[in-house]
Amino acid sequence: MPDQDPTAFRDSVRRFLARHGRRKEEAGPWALGFVTDHEEAGRRFEEERAWQATRFRAGMAGFTYPTRYGGQGGLAWQDEIFQEEARPYGPSSTFIAGTIAMLGPTLMALGTEEQKAGLIARLLSAEDVWCQLFSEPGAGSDLASLACRAVRDGDDFVVSGQKVWNSAAQWADHGFILVRTDPEAPKHRGITMLLIDMRWPGVTVRPLIQASGAADFAEVFLDEVRVPATNVVGEVDAGWSAARIVLANEAAMIGGGGRQTYPPLLRLADLHGRRSDVHLRARLSDLYVRDRLLDLMSGRIMEAVRRREAPPVDPAILELYYAENRRRAGDLAASIAGAAAMLSDDEPSRWVESEIMRRYTVSIGGGTTEVLRNNLAERALGLPREPGDERTRPWSQLRRN
Ligand SMILES: Cc1cc2nc3c(=O)[nH]c(=O)nc-3n(C[C@H](O)[C@H](O)[C@H](O)COP(=O)(O)OP(=O)(O)OC[C@H]3O[C@@H](n4cnc5c(N)ncnc54)[C@H](O)[C@@H]3O)c2cc1C
Repeated sequence: MPDQDPTAFRDSVRRFLARHGRRKEEAGPWALGFVTDHEEAGRRFEEERAWQATRFRAGMAGFTYPTRYGGQGGLAWQDEIFQEEARPYGPSSTFIAGTIAMLGPTLMALGTEEQKAGLIARLLSAEDVWCQLFSEPGAGSDLASLACRAVRDGDDFVVSGQKVWNSAAQWADHGFILVRTDPEAPKHRGITMLLIDMRWPGVTVRPLIQASGAADFAEVFLDEVRVPATNVVGEVDAGWSAARIVLANEAAMIGGGGRQTYPPLLRLADLHGRRSDVHLRARLSDLYVRDRLLDLMSGRIMEAVRRREAPPVDPAILELYYAENRRRAGDLAASIAGAAAMLSDDEPSRWVESEIMRRYTVSIGGGTTEVLRNNLAERALGLPREPGDERTRPWSQLRRN
């Protein structure tokens, strides 16, 4: 069990980070958050895995998970202190921390004892690295219309179909996948979540390149992949409940990290001699306020998320707010640097280009802002659902794109 005294605990985190971490500023102020070379992207992923393993060995991971599953049996504030202190350090375990944040709470809520005992410690230590296999070419925003098929055959399910936009799937050992098990049920009620090994026969992973050049996405093809029925998470045909736990935790993870968008923009304003520009100052102050507000909201919501309890408000709010901050920060970077940034190849200009290009990743990944707004309208405000009989007609009779 980690220290119960917050000051002593913070000190032990600082000692751990000073010994094992690498300060991000060593990579320079204009380091990009992604790489365009597949091999280099793979190396970075393995660095993430090693970092997560180091954390686990030192008792600095899985703070709120029970000790019998490899966690620290600790409290939510310990995780919060760790995140605060670790912010200036790398390598950050973006993908790995992301899937831990999604799958861990889902297994804790719906997993069998065997799944929890067999998988959670390996998840927290990054001995097993997972990827999320949800989106399909015809099912992104309307995820519940997914078509990847699983047919029961004895003790197995046989899975065939395609998934796409799967972050880090080319390096992951395992995947949590949503499949259609009952095409005759309404779309939300015939879905099951399964756990698969990415090296099983019939699984083919093809890396994809994003518009920004980033090389960390993949598409995944499944051709009659045999999955033991013991790998179902929760109940057969009730996978939508599992998906909702994953998606709520994903939204909290994306928006709840206390990330600040304004510091590099201050540096950029300095570089372009625009510190005294009144219009710019107003926009920077606006961003500062929004970063601070997000941090405060995040504190309240993440406290519950860390305890795996229902948060006071839907965590989608955090993702929505952060997506808007990233959009404004990207726009501001473009205004400060001007057209010259598009034509130059120096480090700050490349950083500006990437900010402009990548400002929309948050407003698409983990559910688009439009869809998150729809969900909030229905669930938080009690507004009517979109018209139609999509929720009651059998999936097999629905029109799909
Ligand atoms: C950085 C990143 C990481 C990702 N990682 C993963 C991953 O690991 N695993 C995975 O499975 N997927 C992943 N995705 C995919 C992501 O979940 C989907 O891109 C997203 O859900 C949107 O689906 P789509 O791309 O098919 O867009 P579409 O669903 O085709 O949407 C196109 C546009 O139409 C709008 N739209 C659609 N329906 C409505 C509606 N009802 N009301 C209003 N507007 C609507 C959308 O908002 C969007 O602007 C990732 C995406 C990104 C950007």
